[in-house]
Amino acid sequence: MSKAFYTHLENTLKQLKEAGTYKQLQYLTGPISGKAAIEGKSNSVLLCSNNYLGLANKPELVEAGIAALKKYGAGAASVRFICGTYDIHRDLEQKIASVMKTEAALTYTSAWNANTAVIPALMGPGDAVISDELNHASIIDGCRATGKDVKKLVYKHSDMASLREKLQEAGNGNKLVITDGVFSMEGDIAPLPEILKLAKEFDALVMVDDSHATGAIGKTGKGTAEYYGLEGQVDIITGTLGKALGGAGGGFVAGRKSVTDICVQRSRPHLFSNSLPPVLAAIGLAALNYLESHPEMVASLHKKVAYLRSKLNAAGIKPLEGDSAIVPVIVGDTATSIKIAADMLNRGVYAIGFGFPVVPEGTARIRIQVSDALTYEDIDYAAKVMTEVFAAHGFAQK
Ligand SMILES: *Cc1c(COP(=O)(O)O)cnc(C)c1O
Repeated sequence: MSKAFYTHLENTLKQLKEAGTYKQLQYLTGPISGKAAIEGKSNSVLLCSNNYLGLANKPELVEAGIAALKKYGAGAASVRFICGTYDIHRDLEQKIASVMKTEAALTYTSAWNANTAVIPALMGPGDAVISDELNHASIIDGCRATGKDVKKLVYKHSDMASLREKLQEAGNGNKLVITDGVFSMEGDIAPLPEILKLAKEFDALVMVDDSHATGAIGKTGKGTAEYYGLEGQVDIITGTLGKALGGAGGGFVAGRKSVTDICVQRSRPHLFSNSLPPVLAAIGLAALNYLESHPEMVASLHKKVAYLRSKLNAAGIKPLEGDSAIVPVIVGDTATSIKIAADMLNRGVYAIGFGFPVVPEGTARIRIQVSDALTYEDIDYAAKVMTEVFAAHGFAQK
């Protein structure tokens, strides 16, 4: 037990608190919808969940989970290739493949696992991964996990001239271009048509992480490819069941059968970590079925996004532009963003201030995530509180 080490940890935590960047956990005491019951606070309008379609507490999903618990029990107690594969995994994977218009799909316990699994499983010595600079941390870790013999190239955010340069630098091995579909901190959508065109020119593969896109964009919620009318043209789609698709948890890789099969044979999270609990597979499957029969949820979500944006604009608060359900308002420094979020929460509106190192220094922001579970009254109240709190912090109110 090294005393010096623990003193070092304590000092690091103290510095975070002094800098105003220490993250305080909030404990919820019930299911989420447009509002959340937060321990010790009032019932708050929820603007920071990934529950874009409001499916997290849909009776159809909850019932599917209960039925699966009764049928399969609490858990698998095994990895997939030993005794952890259930018929419900196959049902879910076939459904994901049909929704994503790919040959096959394979589930993981999270999208984090899916990304850190598939990238090293596919790339070998002499190959190159080419990643957008704003890609999710799990993609960055997935690229790192390919080891020293795979080139790691990073292109400027959604910048096609920069991507072209990196494709030229990549050499003659296999090339995998990786992008988020919807970028989590900016709310913007990757320029998929241009990326696919460049990839074709250089005979590169394209992988899109649609974690914030599945269920949230595209006419029927099928994500970035549907948004652009390019379904079936992306080599690999990864995504999560932990956001718009009910929020329970789970991730997937969708693509050619040879891709998912190599992941079964080789990918480390698949070989060494338990399979997706059957209960989560059942909830994910119920979410996809529900979305298929209620595609109007997606249009309803986007009407609410537009309504919130119009209210904020009218108050002189100018979020970053974008077509997703993520509405970020830049406030500058990290401590200010955390203070604004705290003031909002004190008035019953729950959003998070994100600062360095999650976003670049000087671009701290309040990130609003709109959900179809919000009522128009919820949005009116949230906009009123934001207007007043932002004004109190010196952000222009017209
Ligand atoms: C949230 C997110 C993940 C992680 O999803 P989990 O299923 O919670 O692990 C991965 N990639 C992106 C782009 C995300 O936004």
